[in-house]
Amino acid sequence: MSEQRWRWQRSGYDDRVHAFPAGERPASFVEAACAHTVPYAKVTRSHEGARCLPCLLIVADQLATRVPGAVD
Ligand SMILES: [Zn+2]
Repeated sequence: MSEQRWRWQRSGYDDRVHAFPAGERPASFVEAACAHTVPYAKVTRSHEGARCLPCLLIVADQLATRVPGAVD
């Protein structure tokens, strides 16, 4: 299982902070964990604003399986 890393960034489309794959080469469009897609130019490197709930759940779920003993 490859380890997916995420970077929280704000989308200019819905002004929510989504989890985007980290270390991915910039393409014209980027896709968040929740499948929200946004043009790369509309993404802001900021944590400010409301976080996207589906993204939070997906990332939290992956963390829970990655960290031994974190979740029983
Ligand atoms: Zn999202």
